[in-house]
Amino acid sequence: MSWGGAARRARRHAPWVAASAVIGLLALGRFRRFPACSWTEAASLAALLAGLAGVLVRRAQRAMEGRQPRLRDDLELGLILLTLAESVSLLAGGLHGPFYPIVYLVVAFLVAFLRPAAGVALAAAAIAIDLLAFTGARALPAAWPELSAHAAFLALFALLYQLVLAVQVAAARRAEGQAVARRLLRLDERAREYRLIAAGSEEADASPEGRARWTAAAVREVEQAVGSALEIAERALHAHTCAVFLLSADDRALKLHDCRSRSEAVRRDPLAAESGVLGAAVRWRKAVRLSGRLAGVTYYDRPVAVRALLAVPLLETRGGAAAEGFLRGVVVADRIEDRPFTPEDEDLLAAIAREVLRAIEAERLLGSVKRARDEKERFYRAIDELNRLAKPEEVFEAALALARSLLPADFAALTLVEGPAGRQRIAAVAGVHAGEALAGRLFAGDRGLCGDAIRYGTVLPASGVRLGSRPVVFDEEAQLRGAESLKVFPLRSGDRILGTLVAASRRRGAFDVEAVQAMEVIALQVAQAIQRAQLFSEVERMATTDGLTGLVNHRQLQLVLGERLAEARRYRRPLSLLLGDIDHFKAVNDTHGHPAGDAILRGVAEVLSGAARETDVVARYGGEEFVLVLPETDATAAGALAERVRAAVEARPFPIGGGTLRITLSLGIATFPEAAADKAELIARADAALYAAKHAGRNRAVAAPARGERAAG
Ligand code: GH3
Ligand code: MG
Ligand code: MG
Repeated sequence: MSWGGAARRARRHAPWVAASAVIGLLALGRFRRFPACSWTEAASLAALLAGLAGVLVRRAQRAMEGRQPRLRDDLELGLILLTLAESVSLLAGGLHGPFYPIVYLVVAFLVAFLRPAAGVALAAAAIAIDLLAFTGARALPAAWPELSAHAAFLALFALLYQLVLAVQVAAARRAEGQAVARRLLRLDERAREYRLIAAGSEEADASPEGRARWTAAAVREVEQAVGSALEIAERALHAHTCAVFLLSADDRALKLHDCRSRSEAVRRDPLAAESGVLGAAVRWRKAVRLSGRLAGVTYYDRPVAVRALLAVPLLETRGGAAAEGFLRGVVVADRIEDRPFTPEDEDLLAAIAREVLRAIEAERLLGSVKRARDEKERFYRAIDELNRLAKPEEVFEAALALARSLLPADFAALTLVEGPAGRQRIAAVAGVHAGEALAGRLFAGDRGLCGDAIRYGTVLPASGVRLGSRPVVFDEEAQLRGAESLKVFPLRSGDRILGTLVAASRRRGAFDVEAVQAMEVIALQVAQAIQRAQLFSEVERMATTDGLTGLVNHRQLQLVLGERLAEARRYRRPLSLLLGDIDHFKAVNDTHGHPAGDAILRGVAEVLSGAARETDVVARYGGEEFVLVLPETDATAAGALAERVRAAVEARPFPIGGGTLRITLSLGIATFPEAAADKAELIARADAALYAAKHAGRNRAVAAPARGERAAG
């Protein structure tokens, strides 16, 4: 045997050896009155004191490690104290001395503070030690009455203390029970309140801010409700840890939701749902009550010596049988103390579990109330935004984005009625699908859902109507494949239906009733916004274009020319201006009448528009004068274009009366930067060049010379 092992054994047995030695000496009639104290007596007393110190140190160590003292520890301490009390009282006053009540007090102390089993055993030991002391002193049988009195008093003290203690504990239990019942009642009331708001009841303070504040406070309260329930459980059950673990959405993991614990070791990361003692409660859907040295306590991240454990499943039964209930998680309580949980404890934790469930349910409901409110806010914001948009294209885009996020759809399109024959054009598309092929497409609108939605003025297909395998949305050619959810909303503004909003999703049942209803309201707003934007752009068009030819008007030309010239200056690029004037136009009017003159003006406008590029601006400058603004075009390219235009006008026959009429066009060309430095100069130089062309015999294009050349020329 090693020295370390021997020392440990010696330490373990020392208190017993010392106590036995003192008891032996007592039985031999030693420990007469002080100072008649022998060396052996003094040595054994010293050993007893050393043993007491050792026992106390060990107790303190266990307490610091969070461990409860064992029965053996209690007995050790009690025996040492008893032998000390007996021997000291003998030394101080002898067998019949006045100091014997010390022993009574020690017994009372032991009964009050040690576990009941140790208390009873030690009271019996006190009587036995007393008997030995009397025997050792050879005082019997004369002292039988005295010994009996000692024994009776010892038993009485022990009993009285036990009684007082029991009464006190019962009173404390009752008070605690009442407190728990009150807290449970309050929780219950709160849960009912939450259910009321969840049902959408109106509060006294119905302003949006008031309700938002109220809901936020309610959410906070609900969050605290679980904490309160755990606090109650921890206190009522004298638990080391009380915790709520919730199952993940896939039922595979348990995650700590909230806990009250005396240790910091409760795991916050997910646990495998089916393993350990919590797993047992999950699998069996029943409360689990365990005691002893427990294995499988998986929710601590370091070893904790759990001696008793109670786990109750969180089962949402909704009035049905537990087996069919929806399992949300587990509430667990444990003890380090060697005291198993009782069936009453189980009832209490089950009540707590119901409170926790209610709180969690309330949290969920409040969450959905909040979501609904956020949704409503989003809805009003969307409508507000729609009303701000000025361009039809912006409205289309916003409408499609709304349909996609609100319903939610993964494909959306907007169609507009074009002309009286019921034809529609797909004005905009968004989302997955062959959108490119659909955008801008014209369709007859007499077969598909879009046509029907406009004819009947209702959302199609009606709710409850199943989609066919290949629903015709636009027409047979423009198929919308793979749509499992589909709605076509008519865009009604007043008594006109402007078109439709089509929303589709590949997911079946993607659109819920409320979202469709919200979208119906949005569709009304979209229609109004489209109409307003169309009106707005029509007014804008009228203000910027010429009524006869459809070309840009004089005012708009001044604006656009200024912008293009500024760009040309900034990027150091050329820009040319053509100024055309129909030759002898007065004579055309005079001979054929003004309507014929107007037709010729429209024809010349067509020729000019046809010759221009996308980025060029074609304007009616006034009367029978036209302007072409040509960005990125130098004098040479402008000259070539002017010649093409001149030739095209000359070649075009204008039907008049029975025959045809031909006219010609004279053009003046000026190019920035060589011929002019600013807008006014550019126009003046083009005008001068035009005048030169007229002067030179008409039906020709003349370019303004560069500024240096002009000075030279
Ligand atoms: P040239 O330019 O070759 O010197 O001769 P011109 O006959 O074209 O001369 P002028 O510029 O003096 O005549 C312009 C004519 O254009 C006057 C007017 O009768 C006609 N005119 C101007 N605006 C319109 C219009 O909106 N419609 C019609 N039909 N004629 C217009
Ligand atoms: Mg003119
Ligand atoms: Mg003219």
